[in-house]
Amino acid sequence: MRLAVIEGDGIGREVIPAAVEVLDAFGLEFEKVPLEIGYARWERTGTAMSEEDMEIIKSCNAVLFGAVTTVPDPGYKSVLLTIRKELDLYANVRPVKPLSGVVGVSGRSDFDFIIVRENTEGLYSGIEEIGHDLSWTKRVITRKGSERISEYACELAKKRSGKLTIVHKSNVLKSDKLFLDVCRETASSYGVEYGDMLVDSMAYSLIMHPEKYDVVVTTNLFGDILSDMCAALVGSLGLVPSANIGKKYAFFEPVHGSAPDIAGKGISNPLAAILCVKMLLEWMGKPEARLIDAAIADLLQKKIITPDLGGRASTAEVGNAVAKYIMQNL
Ligand code: ATP
Ligand code: MG
Repeated sequence: MRLAVIEGDGIGREVIPAAVEVLDAFGLEFEKVPLEIGYARWERTGTAMSEEDMEIIKSCNAVLFGAVTTVPDPGYKSVLLTIRKELDLYANVRPVKPLSGVVGVSGRSDFDFIIVRENTEGLYSGIEEIGHDLSWTKRVITRKGSERISEYACELAKKRSGKLTIVHKSNVLKSDKLFLDVCRETASSYGVEYGDMLVDSMAYSLIMHPEKYDVVVTTNLFGDILSDMCAALVGSLGLVPSANIGKKYAFFEPVHGSAPDIAGKGISNPLAAILCVKMLLEWMGKPEARLIDAAIADLLQKKIITPDLGGRASTAEVGNAVAKYIMQNL
């Protein structure tokens, strides 16, 4: 197993070392390949990521990624988008699950669902024209794209013995009729129970009744918006991990960015990055991944938490405590 480790910029350089310490605690065979990519690299060399970097990433099985500060250069191509495209990471997966004792905007803690967002097409097709009086972007929905994302979501629903909710706006956007039809067909063929929701009602319902959902599948833009909104259900940006999954590769990153305002102080919350390690281990089919949840529950109870959660622990202290718990309970 070769793992590319990209700390990136800002707090990426704090939370990823903490996450790597946790990964190491499992004692699994990993060949870690560190890569310097991002804003700092661009400042130093004029390029945020080179073609050789991309080749090295392709020689790995998975990527653990911190955050990259956007480079203020009109010609800059997002490193994330490039990697997503090159590795064909078509499923963006965000588990939304509260940690014990941390209450988000809904005031509830009885929910546990996953948003599966189509990551390659929809309104992010990149087919657009920008003009003085007219600008447009083509929204592309394909049968193949809808099939593979709904298959991913159905596999997940089966594993969780859960229900699939298909989120769309097919009453207005006729292109969503194809997405909805394909998702329904896939769910039927997998024998997965399913329902569907219009995206606007879904936004309301997710805040009011997050406990009603299990696996949510949707198109690119809707998934982008809903999944950030759902970070508020969990309580802190520092707690939400994400995965980008393809047929061959997987890429794990915390939902938060490089947070320049707190970078370098050692106070960033590494739990999102540590939960990325959990997703990586799950992707590898390692049942011991669930030890990470137990470790985090233990830390929260002992108040070994960073300032964003009202504690006084440093990034490194939290990483160290999780790693220690795992070594003692493995
Ligand atoms: P970027 O441009 O890289 O996305 P940003 O300024 O948008 O950076 P984010 O990382 O998206 O910053 O975070 C927004 C705010 O949330 C930050 O100001 C930061 O204080 C807080 N935050 C984000 N991640 C964490 C974390 N892991 N621990 C503590 N606070 C965090
Ligand atoms: Mg940001």
